[in-house]
Amino acid sequence: MNPPAAPMTLSMPPIGLGVFRAAPDEAYAAVRAALDAGYRHIDTAQVYRNEAAVGQAVRDSGLKPAEVFVTTKLWNDNQHPARLQDAVARSIEALGLGAPSLFLLHWPVPGLRLGAWAALEELQAAGVLRGIGVSNFMVPHLEELLRHARVAPVVNQIEVHPFLQQRAVRAFCAAQGIIVQAYSPLTKGLRLGHPVVQHIALAVNRSAAQVLLRWGLQHGLVVLPKSTRPERIRENLALDDFALDSAHMAALDALEENLVTGWNPQQVA
Ligand code: NDP
Repeated sequence: MNPPAAPMTLSMPPIGLGVFRAAPDEAYAAVRAALDAGYRHIDTAQVYRNEAAVGQAVRDSGLKPAEVFVTTKLWNDNQHPARLQDAVARSIEALGLGAPSLFLLHWPVPGLRLGAWAALEELQAAGVLRGIGVSNFMVPHLEELLRHARVAPVVNQIEVHPFLQQRAVRAFCAAQGIIVQAYSPLTKGLRLGHPVVQHIALAVNRSAAQVLLRWGLQHGLVVLPKSTRPERIRENLALDDFALDSAHMAALDALEENLVTGWNPQQVA
C-alpha cells in the first residue's frame, strides 16, 4: 500500500510567483506586487537567500499569513542530519509566518535524501512543518522514496514546459496522487519567441508567456512563473479568460526537445 499523502492546511493556488535569482529588495517588491495583483502563492528556497524578504512582504501586505501559500526548500548541504533541524528552524524564523505551507527537499541528494525525508516526516508529526514534498525527483527517486516513506510527498516540483514535458514523471505522480509543480514554466525566456508559441499567441490574442502557462494549467500543473516586473507579474496571473483548444494543445505537445534550462536531475543516482 502507498503511504498517505502529507497534509496541508491551506489549499494550493495553481499559479505561484517564483523568486529565484531575485535579490531581497527585488523579491520584496515582487511579492508585494504579486499579492496586490491577487497571487496567493509564493515559491522561495533557502538557496535563493530571500526568505526573510518574502516573509516581510507577506506580513506587510495586510493579508494574514494563513491566506498566502508559501513554499520554501531545504538546501542540499542542509540535508545532512547534523544540519537539518537547525536549517528548518532558520527558514521558519526567516519567513516569520509560522510553519510554511510547504517544505520541499530541493534536490535528490544521493546518500542523504532518504534520511532527510524521514526527518521531515518527524518534523511534520511534531507539528513543526505542514505540507512536505520534494523537488527534482525523477521516477527512480520517487520509487525509492515511496518504498521507504511513511508519508508520501504531497508535491514534486520539477522543470516542466512544452519543450521539457517530463511525461514519465508526470504520469507517475498522477498515479500516486502527487501534485506536480512546474518550475521554469516560461523556459527562463528561452523559447518565448518560438514560432509555434508565437503563432498560438497571435491566434488567442495573448502573450507567449500566457500561452506557455495556460498549457501547464490545462495539463493540471501548478505553474510557478518568475518575474520582478509588476506588469509581467499581473500578465502571468491573467490566465482565466481564455483557453487553448485541442489543436493548440496538440501543437504545443509536439514541441518536446528535452530542453533542460537549469540543473538536470535526470542522471542523479
Ligand atoms: P521562468 O521560466 O519563470 O522565467 C523567468 C524569466 O522570464 C525571467 O527572465 C523573467 O524576466 C521572464 N519573464 C517572466 N514573465 C514574463 C513575461 N510575461 N513575458 C516575458 N518574459 C517574462 O524561470 P525560473 O527559472 O525563474 O523559474 C520560475 C520559478 O521556479 C523560480 O523563480 C523558482 O521559484 C522555481 N524554480 C525552482 C527550481 C527548483 O530546483 N526547484 C529551479 C528553478 C526555478 P523578468 O523577471 O525581468 O520579468
